[in-house]
Amino acid sequence: MRIVFIGPPGSGKGTQCTRLAKHWSIPHLSTGNMLRETIENSSAEKCAFGTLVSSYINTGRLAPDYLVMPIITKRLAEPDCAAGCLFDGFPRTVIQAQQLDEYLQSLDQRLNLVLSLEVAPEELIRRILLRANTENRADDTPETIAARLQVFDQQTTLVLDYYHGHGIVKRIDGMKSPDEVFSQIIALPL
Ligand code: AMP
Repeated sequence: MRIVFIGPPGSGKGTQCTRLAKHWSIPHLSTGNMLRETIENSSAEKCAFGTLVSSYINTGRLAPDYLVMPIITKRLAEPDCAAGCLFDGFPRTVIQAQQLDEYLQSLDQRLNLVLSLEVAPEELIRRILLRANTENRADDTPETIAARLQVFDQQTTLVLDYYHGHGIVKRIDGMKSPDEVFSQIIALPL
């Protein structure tokens, strides 16, 4: 089972994927986490690659596709992804979505579902600012939050259009509590 979670920052993708990965015993692939790990590892080695990646994350811009695709395809090639996985924050551009489709087709695999987590903008900002107090993420500042929301509206909604064309999108009411959202998702016919 392969499910893509699409939603703006603060829509609960990470929270739900963490719970669902345990529930379904499949890996949770977050490109945001992978990129942050890349930054941590490369800063230990004083490598310019980490500086390049953080220049995108810390300003709320998307990392380029040519940086993101090798990271995710390397992870997808690991044996624990053979039975399925949850994609959190990937794909975020139409190019990434097309390249993911090509990659999966080459393995005779496909996406089962794309879940669109829908949350009102004021609630997103409230949640991200709350998270900023506990997680200390460099990109949870008011300016960067605004940039990330804009990137979602301008680029990632096109990914939703792409998947609507494939007829695999289900809308999820992300305004509900984490428990209620979880219940909505596990009740879906898969
Ligand atoms: P996230 O943890 O999913 O909110 O991602 C944090 C940041 O990592 C984003 O604002 C982007 O700068 C970068 N990022 C994460 N996933 C992707 C992706 N699929 N494509 C490009 N940039 C990404």
